Amino acid sequence: MFPEAPSLIKSLTKEERALLDKVKAGERISDEEALSLYQSQNIPFLAYLASLIRYRNHGKEAYFNRNVHIEPTNICIYDCAFCSFARRPGEGGAWEYDLDTIEQIALSYKDKGITEVHITGGVHPKRDVKYYGEMLKRIKTILPHVHIKAFTAVELQVMCMRSKMSIEEGLLYLKDCGLDSIPGGGAEIFHPEIRKQICNTKATTEVWLAIHETAHRLGIPSNCTMLYGHIEDYTHRIHHMRLLRELQDKTQGFNCFIPLKFKRENNRLSYLEETSLLEDLKNYAVARIYMDNIPHLKAYWPMIGKSTAQLSLHFGVDDLDGTIDDSTRIYSMAGADAHPVMRTEELVALIQSAGFIPVERDSLYNKLKVYQDALSHV
Ligand code: SF4
Repeated sequence: MFPEAPSLIKSLTKEERALLDKVKAGERISDEEALSLYQSQNIPFLAYLASLIRYRNHGKEAYFNRNVHIEPTNICIYDCAFCSFARRPGEGGAWEYDLDTIEQIALSYKDKGITEVHITGGVHPKRDVKYYGEMLKRIKTILPHVHIKAFTAVELQVMCMRSKMSIEEGLLYLKDCGLDSIPGGGAEIFHPEIRKQICNTKATTEVWLAIHETAHRLGIPSNCTMLYGHIEDYTHRIHHMRLLRELQDKTQGFNCFIPLKFKRENNRLSYLEETSLLEDLKNYAVARIYMDNIPHLKAYWPMIGKSTAQLSLHFGVDDLDGTIDDSTRIYSMAGADAHPVMRTEELVALIQSAGFIPVERDSLYNKLKVYQDALSHV
């Protein structure tokens, strides 16, 4: 039962009360209303609205999974202004694992109880669909029960082009090799004014959306993301979320929306300040209220930090991602936690102490274990 907040409700303005009525009735909010929420300083009200939706969808449950990342290479043909991860071939700090090394990495997780391997990396100048298909096959041979979520739309566009395959042909081939879903990366900010300044040459907005639409049509679910807190403003964020909401209306193929906070170290946008804690929480809340048709909202803890991820559960978030096992460098190279790892017990305790019920999930949000006694420890 969602807790009432009589004194908060009593203090609301006429406009806020109208928004509350709308959200309570399960109605969709407009772009103008989303902008008014972004501009609001009434943080308790934002938390209340977002939590109302969060409780309606998921009660007090908060999800996590046991996952690892494999980043086959950070060599990339692109040069996105916000990126701290990519390197040119031969540049210091560049890596490119061959398939035998990927196999060794998969073998090292054989008996670790993971349920998901997440694969993303730079857009390598030579590797194609056949190469990545072979990678998937080898991982599936070693970890047959593990869900493989792999390759952003940006990677997929180039590998398909290199293999002279349409996106549909490439996705079907990769699906046959073991691809289970695709991650939400590469979306950044869709608005052309901003996209041309931060990632002018890679997959356009239209291409990103078309690849996810094709994947959904082929029965490959995906996630979606938004890179925020750099040179965009609130209207660009709303435009971005509108395009995702519209696609979701058509396909219902997105499982989860993941706002990604811009981190400033070691990239060309280092002159910018990072967003504040309050801004991060506000962004989660508005996302939860606006994206009414995407079931899950994730706070990716290796990027946002454990404490903020925990707090975000009170701002609409229902998923904290996973155990990670120190397997990703994308955010640590931009200034986040250098060695991201959380044991299952830690994740459970983190969720419990925020007053929620931890639920271990698989990659499609089927519940694997509900930690029912959670609240008794609070
Ligand atoms: S964000 Fe992705 S596509 Fe852009 S430079 Fe970095 S690795 Fe390459």
